[in-house]
Amino acid sequence: MAGITNFMQGRSKRILVPGGAGYIGSHTCVELINRGYTPVIVDNFVNSSIASVDRIRQITGANDVPVIEADIRDTAEMVRVLREHECEAVIHFAGLKAVGESTAQPLDYYSNNVQGSLSLLEAMKQAGTGHIVFSSSATVYGTPVSLPYTESHPLAPTNPYGMTKYAVELMLNDLVASRAGINAGILRYFNPIGAHPSGLIGEDPNGVPNNLMPFVAQVAVGRRPHLNVFGNDYDTPDGTGVRDYIHVVDLAEAHIAALEKLLASPDSFTVNLGSGIGHSVLDVVKAFEQASGRDIPLEFVDRRPGDLPAYWADPTYAMELLGWQTRLTLEDMCRDQWAWQSGNPNGYPDVKIGAA
Ligand code: NAD
Ligand code: UDP
Repeated sequence: MAGITNFMQGRSKRILVPGGAGYIGSHTCVELINRGYTPVIVDNFVNSSIASVDRIRQITGANDVPVIEADIRDTAEMVRVLREHECEAVIHFAGLKAVGESTAQPLDYYSNNVQGSLSLLEAMKQAGTGHIVFSSSATVYGTPVSLPYTESHPLAPTNPYGMTKYAVELMLNDLVASRAGINAGILRYFNPIGAHPSGLIGEDPNGVPNNLMPFVAQVAVGRRPHLNVFGNDYDTPDGTGVRDYIHVVDLAEAHIAALEKLLASPDSFTVNLGSGIGHSVLDVVKAFEQASGRDIPLEFVDRRPGDLPAYWADPTYAMELLGWQTRLTLEDMCRDQWAWQSGNPNGYPDVKIGAA
């Protein structure tokens, strides 16, 4: 019946997706389309390619995916887009995310992540858009006082990137408390990896990858000679760092659950998105070797400054609140990462903006 109503009205719910051309955003756009929503992508392509939007269309068969090249700090443009497309909600991915770079260039991070979010929220107020899902990070917790991290763990980020996520969380909480007609779902991601099983979209980092999984994948495909393992003297089962890896498709599905919760009830929430399982660097390397059939040569080097030894999520509240939990394993993550990396050894092809 709902399908007939939508058909008769001639359109599905439109959701503004700032950062929708990026890694997690593109996967979420696919899931939005699969559930009958229309994502309206806004991106300045500072860390993504418009080719990802073509791939979203290819995977879903949707030809009507609007994409606007804009910066979220342009408030007037955000108001215009929200009004023109009559967006009912926002799923906000746009921002910079490299921890090391944030230490070297903190003002870029405060500008893109904090000023950008402020601009977007101001635009939502002006346009009367009432719901926002925000990409936060487990980085907001800082050094673990207890593990697994629950949502009530103290917040003490240890780098400028984490501080910007914390600042936006505070801004959202204050905005919600002011009864401005906006409810918010703050999602604290753990370590997203993997790719869509089609191998058509995935993470395409600029330059040398900072993160483990894209680095491992580039070693497997021959772009890099070996993996540097940052430390093998941690107090963990094999001495290497432990993280809670989550398949990007599971993560994308959690965004739909969060969106639908915000559309259905006035409450706001903050929730961890992780599996609850910790894997070491060597666990990931072994699983990737199995999935790819390639050897991953490695060298043990010094710890990376600022790295925490081990952390993982308590995912209980996500299940209670959203009825969501991860269903894909480390093996699935490695298989799908390999499908993306082997099919696109140099990432997305260069496409001129406007060609899609
Ligand atoms: P990504 O870099 O692939 O995607 C971010 C997108 O935002 C890119 O397409 C980029 O071009 C765009 N963008 C950046 N600044 C913009 C601006 N001012 N205006 C318009 N567009 C802008 O990163 P991702 O991995 O998909 O991450 C998405 C979000 O999730 C980010 O906010 C990130 O901080 C957060 N997050 C990511 C991880 C992770 O490990 N990938 C973990 C926790 C949180
Ligand atoms: N890591 C590593 N070599 C690399 C990149 C990462 O050994 O080239 C380790 C890192 O020390 C950490 C784990 O892999 O223990 C995950 O690192 P990543 O940067 O992917 O995530 P984060 O540390 O931000 O959670």
